[in-house]
Amino acid sequence: MSQAIVEFVRDIYKTDQFIPLHAPTFNGNEMAYVSETIQSTFVSSVGKFVDDFERKIEVYTHSPKAVATVNGTAALHAALYMAGVERGDLVLTQALTFVATCNALYHMGAEPIFIDVSKVSLGLCPKAVETYLEQHAVLDERGCVHKQTGQRIRAVVPMHTFGHPVELDELIAVCLKWKLALVEDAAESLGSFYKGKHTGTLGEFGAVSFNGNKIITTGGGGIVLCRDAEAGAHTKHVTTTAKVPHPYEFYHDEPGFNYRMPNLNAALGCAQMEVLPIFLEQKRKLAQQYQDFFAGTGFQFVTEPEYAQSNYWLNAVICPDANARDELLKVTNENGVMTRPIWKLMHRLPMFKDAMRGDLPVSEWVEAHLINLPSSPTEI
Ligand SMILES: *Cc1c(COP(=O)(O)O)cnc(C)c1O
Repeated sequence: MSQAIVEFVRDIYKTDQFIPLHAPTFNGNEMAYVSETIQSTFVSSVGKFVDDFERKIEVYTHSPKAVATVNGTAALHAALYMAGVERGDLVLTQALTFVATCNALYHMGAEPIFIDVSKVSLGLCPKAVETYLEQHAVLDERGCVHKQTGQRIRAVVPMHTFGHPVELDELIAVCLKWKLALVEDAAESLGSFYKGKHTGTLGEFGAVSFNGNKIITTGGGGIVLCRDAEAGAHTKHVTTTAKVPHPYEFYHDEPGFNYRMPNLNAALGCAQMEVLPIFLEQKRKLAQQYQDFFAGTGFQFVTEPEYAQSNYWLNAVICPDANARDELLKVTNENGVMTRPIWKLMHRLPMFKDAMRGDLPVSEWVEAHLINLPSSPTEI
């Protein structure tokens, strides 16, 4: 099986060279736009590409306001701040995620509570959230409060794993019932839609990443998708040092971040947005090829939930058992085809080992069986 995968992937990418998990592609206007910023000298925090990029993302996602940031973690940090998460608060999130989700929480002074993921989406399970809250939370005049610790539970942060949208209607219902803010970690899901709506636009705030390995890249970068224009203006304000506009006075009216995306990076982003539809098309085709390849093999290729359209950012397969997984990892990597296991569950990391958590049977099962497969756009 492992050798067959190596050959199958080499056949798709038509190369004898090393095949990475996800490499960026620059065959559009990237060079022209980046050169233009250098020639204009506006390479830093002011320039037309930042505004253009934000506009392009707003049009594409139908977000009322998008605020570009230095990276996805910064976008998430600002989103949590904007959603009212405060020092000492608790936030429900999934155990199965990339560490950045929890790092952003940690640096807000908040603490994560790890909840299981759903088999349908591999993202936060609404039923598991509800079960945890029923057992451990009460509603009082402060909102949702943890019964054992007395801490406020402020928000729910789902992550759309590998681009597959979580069950958002059900999560929104839980958030309304328990008075929790919904902040979507949409870092991996640009181009993914939940029932026709772009991921990251259903919660109060959403955070997208444009790191080098994401579906499009700005080198490093991120964006906050904001629920309305007012929240958007405030997000822009806090991510740009919270300076009150004045021709020469420096006055800042709240603790701000310096999280603005440089114009140089936004130029790259503008060019990448132009080719996003092509990337998406190629990635769907690639996912279909994998799906056909794995059909009937005992290896279960991960597909989009039926309610969603996924960007298929990172392809994944569930191996029949741990031995098959280890063998596949070894043979593919030894043969220059990069594959990798999914992240370690967050509570296994030293800084989150004492965090509270619910039962995690699905997360543990996914952790032991899933590997990611090469997923770069194929033909561009
Ligand atoms: C990539 C990623 C981030 C962070 O993005 P950076 O731009 O690398 O800071 C956050 N959450 C998840 C789930 C990611 O995959």
